[in-house]
Amino acid sequence: MSARKRRSSSKGFLAVIAIAAVLLVASLFLPEGPLSGPLGFGGSSDNTQPVVGLDEIPPYSGSPYVAINGNTPDFSEADLVSSSYESYAELDSLGRCGVCIASIGRDIMPTEDRGEIGSVKPTGWHTVKYDVVDGKYLYNRCHLIGFQLTGENANEENLITGTRYLNVQGMLPFENMVADYVKETGNHVLYRVTPIFVGKELVARGVQMEAYSVEDDGDGICFNVYCYNVQPGVDIDYATGESELAKGGVQTSATTDGGEILSYVLNTNTKKFHKPECSSVTDMNPANREDYSGTRQWLIDNGYVACGSCRP
Ligand SMILES: [Zn+2]
Repeated sequence: MSARKRRSSSKGFLAVIAIAAVLLVASLFLPEGPLSGPLGFGGSSDNTQPVVGLDEIPPYSGSPYVAINGNTPDFSEADLVSSSYESYAELDSLGRCGVCIASIGRDIMPTEDRGEIGSVKPTGWHTVKYDVVDGKYLYNRCHLIGFQLTGENANEENLITGTRYLNVQGMLPFENMVADYVKETGNHVLYRVTPIFVGKELVARGVQMEAYSVEDDGDGICFNVYCYNVQPGVDIDYATGESELAKGGVQTSATTDGGEILSYVLNTNTKKFHKPECSSVTDMNPANREDYSGTRQWLIDNGYVACGSCRP
């Protein structure tokens, strides 16, 4: 596994500077030149800098993610390679994760079941439970590049303290979309996940996820989203990771679709959703089960279909 792992090197950094300088000079002469295209060519390939500023992100208002930059990822053309690799930034001086980038291909997808990751304690980690959280635990060890994509398990450079809500409702639908696409086509998806920290805070405010399918020039996969590291009903101190029940309880979690927040059980394999008391729930393979609290409309918007027998 370590043989295929690349880390950013100073050599790579110099190359980035050189490319950036060339692009800058080129842009002076070629404002509509050959480098403009569907992507934000000339964008940052520097693995250490956040690619989006929080001032560009609207405050959380009930949706687990927002599209940014017109949903167009900010990759440079040089990043788009049709061979698989993965690269994780080294932890910073506070022990925090940085940018993770990979060209996802079938050959680096996991062939083994996911193992134990409880040994990793990401910055800001607390083991704390709330009744308003699905599965009770506020925080998950949240993979920046999902396990189903590169099979990275207990890699401390790929795990942050993320809310259940970030993990399941923010990131998972995008991770599954990319995994399904790569499995079906055998194509590659350039994929970058950037945790966004403010100052010296130990818990990320959110993560930026960018993806672009290489062989079909983004026809299959193309997105640039920001997922909020929030948990409806819980207030988080991002400096330390400490938390408390939100004043006013779960009602503070406004929903954009105006729907009622209810509990459902999702089958992530069949993409059906059930009432918790449905008989299918007891028969469900635990690996495919996700407990979800939220609106019915959100499920439908995200490709889930209501079970025909319990009619949730
Ligand atoms: Zn059902």
